[in-house]
Amino acid sequence: MPVTPDQQAEIDALRGEPKQTLRAVSEGMEAHLYKAAPVLDHGFVRVIDYMGDDAAICQAARVSYGKGTKSVSNDAGLIRYLMRHWHSTPFEMCEVKFHVKLPVFVARQWIRHRTANVNEYSARYSILDREFYIPRAEDLAAQSTVNNQGRGEALTGEEAARVLEYLKGDAARCYDHYEEMISDEGQQGLARELARMNLPANIYTQWYWKVDLHNLFHFLRLRADAHAQYEIRVYAEAICDMVKDWVPAAYGAFEDYRMGGANLSGRQLECIRKMLKGEEVTQESSGMSKGEWREFMGVIEG
Ligand SMILES: Cc1cc2nc3c(=O)[nH]c(=O)nc-3n(C[C@H](O)[C@H](O)[C@H](O)COP(=O)(O)OP(=O)(O)OC[C@H]3O[C@@H](n4cnc5c(N)ncnc54)[C@H](O)[C@@H]3O)c2cc1C
Repeated sequence: MPVTPDQQAEIDALRGEPKQTLRAVSEGMEAHLYKAAPVLDHGFVRVIDYMGDDAAICQAARVSYGKGTKSVSNDAGLIRYLMRHWHSTPFEMCEVKFHVKLPVFVARQWIRHRTANVNEYSARYSILDREFYIPRAEDLAAQSTVNNQGRGEALTGEEAARVLEYLKGDAARCYDHYEEMISDEGQQGLARELARMNLPANIYTQWYWKVDLHNLFHFLRLRADAHAQYEIRVYAEAICDMVKDWVPAAYGAFEDYRMGGANLSGRQLECIRKMLKGEEVTQESSGMSKGEWREFMGVIEG
């Protein structure tokens, strides 16, 4: 269960007490505020706070005194211009703070994004819950044969059942030992900071994660991408749904130029120019490696 009934009651109480403010408010983000969007079997993402909206990006770009005189369509045009030309600082004027509950192995990938502020649940101080990520049957896949860093076909039959049993059984046994070791009934009880080393990487942790919109887009570009591991991608996708409602114009520009766009090298552009002139270009004549050629064809053929 992503949130307990008590936690849900706290969220409802927060949402039941709206406060008046003079600050910029994004109606789209207000609809998400505090709510937990479930991710994986026990995880979630929820927005705790945010600052700024599409207009704030334009205000910063124009260094204006108020809302300015420009229309919404002008704002959207300016935002697209900023995104297209990598003029990133106006996007840094917007910030967002999330509360995320995620498996430890996902957290290890996530924490590599250094341009954010993090505070994690302390397993030195608190006892971790008995909550482990157990993949759905369709997400239990074999090692990919074409990509060393990925998965291929779903496991089937007896192998799938055995793997699932291992995952569940190992997690349960490790947690039983964890509980036994920290218990002070009839024994001294091992310190929590030591007992936790027995827990597998699919146990859930939690953190508050605050980031500005520019660096959030960088995170989403990498982690909502098809090459990202499924278990972090689903978090990035849940965040995309929130950002889309928070700053629709900025998200639209991001979707178009970053998620939907592609970077081309000088060599690749030269190939496209030759192709447009009707010249034959092959992998051998292009000067690209087989892998780069495959990626290039993937970009231009869609
Ligand atoms: C598909 C995929 C596979 C990956 N595989 C591996 C792997 O096998 N092994 C592994 O170790 N990692 C791996 N990573 C992690 C990856 O190398 C990055 O660490 C991670 O994506 C964070 O990116 P970042 O540094 O750009 O982000 P951030 O840390 O948020 O930084 C954002 C930008 O700020 C700048 N910046 C931040 N800190 C510094 C600094 N100290 N010095 C200079 N510039 C800085 C850089 O321009 C950087 O791009 C993988 C990531 C992805 C998406």
